[in-house]
Order: sequence, then structure tokens, then C-alpha cells
Amino acid sequence: MTTVNSRTTADWLAHLPQTLKGLQMADDRWLQYRQGPRSVPHVIDQATSPLPTVDWDVVICGGTLGILLGATLVQRGWRVAVLERGQLRGRDQEWNISRQELQELVELSLLSEVELETAIATEYNPARIQFSDSNPVWVRDVLNIGVDPVYLLEILKQKFLAAGGTLAEQTAFQRASVHPNGVAVDTGDKTFNTRLLIDAMGHFSPLVQQARQGQAPDGVCLVVGTCADGYPQNDTGDLMVSFTPVRHQCQYFWEAFPARDGRTTYLFTYVDSQPERLSLTELFDDYWRLLPDYQGVEPEKLDIKRALFGFFPCYRESPLQYPWGRVLPVGDSSGSQSPLSFGGIWGDDPSP
Ligand SMILES: Cc1cc2nc3c(=O)[nH]c(=O)nc-3n(C[C@H](O)[C@H](O)[C@H](O)COP(=O)(O)OP(=O)(O)OC[C@H]3O[C@@H](n4cnc5c(N)ncnc54)[C@H](O)[C@@H]3O)c2cc1C
Repeated sequence: MTTVNSRTTADWLAHLPQTLKGLQMADDRWLQYRQGPRSVPHVIDQATSPLPTVDWDVVICGGTLGILLGATLVQRGWRVAVLERGQLRGRDQEWNISRQELQELVELSLLSEVELETAIATEYNPARIQFSDSNPVWVRDVLNIGVDPVYLLEILKQKFLAAGGTLAEQTAFQRASVHPNGVAVDTGDKTFNTRLLIDAMGHFSPLVQQARQGQAPDGVCLVVGTCADGYPQNDTGDLMVSFTPVRHQCQYFWEAFPARDGRTTYLFTYVDSQPERLSLTELFDDYWRLLPDYQGVEPEKLDIKRALFGFFPCYRESPLQYPWGRVLPVGDSSGSQSPLSFGGIWGDDPSP
């Protein structure tokens, strides 16, 4: 039932100008990866002299996953500072997760049962896995919970602060030096001397870039999608559905989740980083073309609330081990991938 439609991503998202700007920025960065070699920042050194004082047990750079770690450690009596370059606030779009994973936050005393239920914005069952015309496989209780990141991060932030943690927002990691007794973390305005530095700055962490030395990723996951209202059916989800032959030398996969304010649908694929690989915008153009076949609805009928996109550089040598002592990557910076992230396929199987 695909209709020929000449509208582009810029047309479909004209009402979200900031999002279009963000898409262009992400595409510029993806182009830099394809054009390689990239310049490698030099942000960390080894020093031989000890620090005169060490005031923190752990400094965590990057607040998204960092606040979860910070809240856990501060409750155990550690002196913890979390440095976040922006404002620590969850995104409006839910994070999809399975209940068993979420329950771990209760076991770590980070959330009460009531808070856990409040953090759950949506819950659905079952979810489909289907390739081409094969029979679908339906599974239950996998990635079927949508967590409200705004609530989750706010409550963890409050617990972190109440337990004595220090949060510095609008404070970016700039550089660090590793000494025999600690790490000096420099934010430009202030230096934090800590026993341990945790890097939770995501895939594009400057520490990751220095450690990987401009090495081309072994694979890259590209993802685009929207959260929109107006789908005729929104009771079930899709974990992985593929229904088209190879396009642009890529196999396309789809995901869909019922969301609080509509339905989230993602198109994702895996590529290497050759210069000719498709841009996120080109993938998005295919998203609009294929959505009618995928969900049985024309994009004109949808009220598009948000657009989502990203690319994940993935490396066989993961999780990453830093060559410097006292510095640990955690989350996307480590390359271990979120249990739910699209890069997980590469993370789990290092074979070529
Ligand atoms: C479209 C899309 C949908 C996704 N959906 C899901 C999902 O449903 N469920 C799921 O589990 N995962 C999902 N993921 C993956 C998930 O977002 C990441 O795996 C997860 O956010 C990793 O968290 P992180 O803290 O390691 O990195 P990030 O989320 O990238 O966070 C890095 C943090 O570090 C901060 N930072 C960066 N540089 C500096 C600096 N110099 N100084 C201080 N702070 C800095 C950033 O501001 C940010 O807060 C999705 C990803 C995308 C792109």
C-alpha cells in the first residue's frame, strides 16, 4: 500500500526546527566518521608526582547513567561528585526496558516499589519478532516497559543530593591528569582531585576518543524514528521486524513500542564507516517511504510529537579498557552498550 510521496524529512519535521538542527549536527558528526581520519583530542596525561590532597572518592563525568551510579555509591558512604556538561534532566521520550532490569534499582535501594511503579509510564505485551514473510514470533515481558526518564533522573538526583552527593551541572570535563594517588579532573573553573574517575560521557567521550586514537569503528548502528499519535493499532510492540530486501546495501530493521503520548517507531540498520554509506537524513527519508507498509498508516495521518535519531560506533575491542590507571569507562563510553541499545548486536558477538 506504499504511496509515492515526494516529501522529505525536512518537510515532515518542519514543525520541529530544533530537531532538524540536531539531525544536521548528528549527520555532520557521522560524516566526519566516514571521512576519517579524525583529529584525536589529547585530554589526559600521566603524572609522576602525587596530588597534595584527594577530596573525592569518585568523580563521575556524565550525568545520564552517572547519576544512577552516583546515587548508589553515595548511599554506601563514598564521597561522590557528578559533573554534567548540560542540565541533568531525562529526555521526554521513554526508555524501554524489561521489569527484571528495572527491579534491580529497588534491590539497590535506589527506588521504593511505589517509586518504581510511578516511573513506569507504559507497559504492554506481547512483542513481535519477524523477518520477511516468516511466521512472527511473539514474546512477553521483553522491553515492554516504558520508563519516564524525567521522573527517574529527578528522583535519583534528589536521593543523591540528600545523601550528600555533589552535582555540578553546566560543568564539562575538559582534561585530567592521573597521579600515583589520584586523578585531577579539570573543568576549566575548578579542579576535582579524586581517587577514581568514572567516564559516563557516552560514545563520543573525549577520553574514548583519545583511547581509541581515531580508529575506525568495526560497525555503526544508525537509527531514526518518531513518537507519533494516530496509529490505528497500538496495543503490541515490535522488538525486531524486517520486511524489505537490502536497500542502500543495508538490511533495515524496525522496532515499535506503545508510548505515553502515541507510538514510537524506529528504523535501524548496521553499516561500516565507508564514505559512501547513507546519512541519517537519507535513512529518515526511507523511514517515511516505508512507514505505510510497516504500520499501515500514511504519515499525513500522524501527529508527530518527536523525532529521534542517533548513530552508535561499535568496536570489537569492547568493553574498552583504558591504559591509564584510576579511570573507568561505564555505559556507552565503555562500548558495552545498554542492554537495550541497538548497538548490542555488535557488543554481544565480537566475531567478524
Ligand atoms: C534514538 C535512541 C533511542 C534509544 N532508546 C533506548 C531505550 O529505549 N532504552 C535504552 O536502554 N537505551 C536506549 N538508547 C540507548 C541509550 O540512550 C544509551 O545506551 C544510554 O543513554 C547510555 O547512557 P550513557 O550515560 O552511557 O551515555 P549518554 O546517554 O550519551 O550520556 C552521556 C552524558 O554525558 C554528558 N557529557 C558528555 N560530554 C561531557 C563532558 N565533556 N563533561 C560532562 N558531561 C558530559 C552528556 O551530556 C550526557 O548526559 C537509545 C538511543 C537512541 C539514540
